[in-house]
Amino acid sequence: MTGIKPQPGIMDIALYVGGKSTLEGVSDVIKLSSNENPFGPSPKAQDALVAAARDLHRYPSTDHASLRSAIAQVHGLQAENIICGVGSDEIIHFLCQAYVGAGDEVIHTEHGFAMYRISTLAAGGTPVEVAECDRRVDVDRILAAVTPATRLVFIANPANPTATFVPMDEITRLAEALPDHVILVLDGAYAEFEPGYDGGAQLAETRANVVMTRTFSKLYGLGGLRVGYGYADRAIIDVLNRIRGPFNLSGPALAAAEAAVLDHAFTEHCLAENARLRRWLREALLQAGVACDESHANFVLARFETSDEADAANAHLQSLGLIVRQVGGYKLPACLRITVGDETACQRVAEAITTFKKAQAA
Ligand SMILES: *Cc1c(COP(=O)(O)O)cnc(C)c1O
Repeated sequence: MTGIKPQPGIMDIALYVGGKSTLEGVSDVIKLSSNENPFGPSPKAQDALVAAARDLHRYPSTDHASLRSAIAQVHGLQAENIICGVGSDEIIHFLCQAYVGAGDEVIHTEHGFAMYRISTLAAGGTPVEVAECDRRVDVDRILAAVTPATRLVFIANPANPTATFVPMDEITRLAEALPDHVILVLDGAYAEFEPGYDGGAQLAETRANVVMTRTFSKLYGLGGLRVGYGYADRAIIDVLNRIRGPFNLSGPALAAAEAAVLDHAFTEHCLAENARLRRWLREALLQAGVACDESHANFVLARFETSDEADAANAHLQSLGLIVRQVGGYKLPACLRITVGDETACQRVAEAITTFKKAQAA
């Protein structure tokens, strides 16, 4: 026994389990478990990364001015209201570190993203889980859970792992009804996949209590590099910058992200393929007798009859080299989350699940 012990809350954190990427004994695997871009990163981002290798002896930019200006230009944002992080995970972490301490509450929803709870506990705060309604975030239930101790409310919109979407008027209603000691964090990791949705950028621009987070890990295919950003009122950005490491993003990461966000043609191609294939994949699942909500992201949530059936379907998919995500940890044990891959991947998944359901019925 020693007197060494971590801060309260830390031992309550269950280690994050990422999407599987290999299967023992299977070489030809298709990974559909982490919502990665099936087309990879933009070729221009790859070139920028390679070019950045020449400057590896240099410390990177600390204010990220060039990347922030590219993001601002492409998304119509104010560059000085942006903070870049090591993935949007780091922005989530900064928010908890800056605004949450012992005795403070942080609201997340029933099927919400695991990082909200992890970062809350790491800061010594108390996660408060709010029920959803048919796998949809419910604004009134969130409002009913707010107390004087509430500091943050996290919502992913579109949501992961459900792929559902809360319309902007509901989000606005929530932002307006929250007491002014509460920050609403709109996690826009999948915002680009919902046509016409700005991720809550405008709301973050006009309201002092709204923060938007975005990532380069999904649409931009740069999960391996770790780049994300937050968008908020200058007062919040100023707070977060004080706890940000001065060199949190590497030079190659900054260069690749900038090239990626400026590559409109590649982005448009990925979005168009995703929209077409997610519709096709959902239809195929419904045809096979598997329930599936309309997807607003780059994955679908396949709902089986029972958790046993979902486990059996998962085993069948794995036997064919198809890796999807079990989401029991998100309180959806009868579901499998399937990333929308390229056309071949979607066809293989649809075929495998159709065969599986036929065998079940026989
Ligand atoms: C993937 C994902 C993120 C992105 O995390 P990064 O740290 O930017 O890779 C954030 N929120 C949700 C809901 C996600 O699914």
